[in-house]
Amino acid sequence: MNFKPYIRVIEDFPQPGISFKDITTLLQNGPVYREVINELARQLKEVEIDCIAGPEARGFVIGAPLAIALGVGFIPIRKSGKLPGHTIEADYALEYGKDKLAMHQDAIQPGQKVLIADDLLATGGTIATSINLIEQLGGQVVGAAFLIELLELNGREKLGPIDIISLVTY
Ligand code: IMP
Repeated sequence: MNFKPYIRVIEDFPQPGISFKDITTLLQNGPVYREVINELARQLKEVEIDCIAGPEARGFVIGAPLAIALGVGFIPIRKSGKLPGHTIEADYALEYGKDKLAMHQDAIQPGQKVLIADDLLATGGTIATSINLIEQLGGQVVGAAFLIELLELNGREKLGPIDIISLVTY
């Protein structure tokens, strides 16, 4: 299925020069949203995964239903100060900004095979930081799954030799 017609592009958001890919128009269409999750699940059928981790907030929108579809657990990667238990944190740079990501120290058991899910791969900074956190906890990142990939930002190169899948490219 071609998902691109369901994604709205808004120019100059959140700041001039950014061409924002807005997935809310896709999410409001139930059958299309379900097909996104089913298609990712199909492409990941052969990959051994113990759990899925997704960064706040749109990583939850893709990662949590994908975890249900694959029958594995979901681990939220959150902005600093949101998780109630003991956490580890790492700085990260966004396509348009800077922040800190955090995970609970006991979120992953050493050796677990983790897939990262997010709505969009841009520079790869968010996912590189997520990989850093997961590896600090002893997890093994086996791949990353996205609805959208912005090819000209070369995010893949930042992520090393993990399997990366995306359904829509710009
Ligand atoms: P990266 O860290 O540069 O790869 O940026 C990816 C992160 O920024 C993802 O978590 C996205 O949700 C968010 N992001 C960057 N650009 C866009 C966009 O055009 N639309 C929606 N989210 C975006």
